[in-house]
Amino acid sequence: LRAHFAYFKNEKGNITGVVIVIRDITEEEKLERMRKEFVANVSHEIKTPITTIKSYAETLMEGALSDREISQRFLSVIIKEADRMSRLVSDLLQLSRLDYQKNRWVKEPISLVKIVEDVITKLAVTIKQKNMEVYQTFEDGFPMILGDRDRIEQVILNVIGNAVKYTPEGGRIGIKGSSENRRAVLSISDNGIGIPKEDLPRVFERFYRVDKARSRDLGGTGLGLSIAKQIIEAHDGTIVIDSRYGEGTTVTITLPAYL
Ligand code: ADP
Repeated sequence: LRAHFAYFKNEKGNITGVVIVIRDITEEEKLERMRKEFVANVSHEIKTPITTIKSYAETLMEGALSDREISQRFLSVIIKEADRMSRLVSDLLQLSRLDYQKNRWVKEPISLVKIVEDVITKLAVTIKQKNMEVYQTFEDGFPMILGDRDRIEQVILNVIGNAVKYTPEGGRIGIKGSSENRRAVLSISDNGIGIPKEDLPRVFERFYRVDKARSRDLGGTGLGLSIAKQIIEAHDGTIVIDSRYGEGTTVTITLPAYL
């Protein structure tokens, strides 16, 4: 708690009154700490690819350029790191837009079945490369929802994208749509690497990753699930994750049905 005092005095200089303002600053301090942590995380996330790019470029300049095979390999690392940095910047922009523009979203009736289809089309090349199978079952009467189409697509892309990223070759992804108490329930399961129990409560935090090196290597920014959660909650929905380490993961999204 922080207290501020103000005194009232009369002409003779005697104190005739006092105003005391007591503020609870725990919340302010918490916000300030979170802000600092966020800035530190962002700086770190941006510095890492820059360091890699720089050291690979230097090695090339110092002579590795003459070896064609090494040059190819180094240049592809440079491109991959640059791509990740640009994804990071788009995710950060997305987060800041989420903070300020929620009231400007255009909500319209949308079909999650159609969005899932579009997302799978976007991921088709990777799905094929990894020889994965995607199963879909949508219950009869699976409802439409009211939402901002692009934002909801972003959520589904992040979640199915994770299922693809964190599942080894030959894996399976199951997508199920059902309805419950006037809500659309969409669950996305994979039989991938899973998440250890102790990490599970933290995966929706900004920049939290179970395995930093693996996520980076796969091009992750650590922001996908926190963006998803913000968007879903702004649509009065919920998103939960359940997982068994080494067995697989299920993300369940529920949203109010548009009836
Ligand atoms: P990232 O860009 O690292 O994928 P996310 O915010 O999307 O960031 O996810 C946070 C972390 O949660 C990931 O780094 C990963 O460790 C874990 N994770 C998310 N989805 C899955 C999944 N389907 N299977 C296993 N781990 C997952």
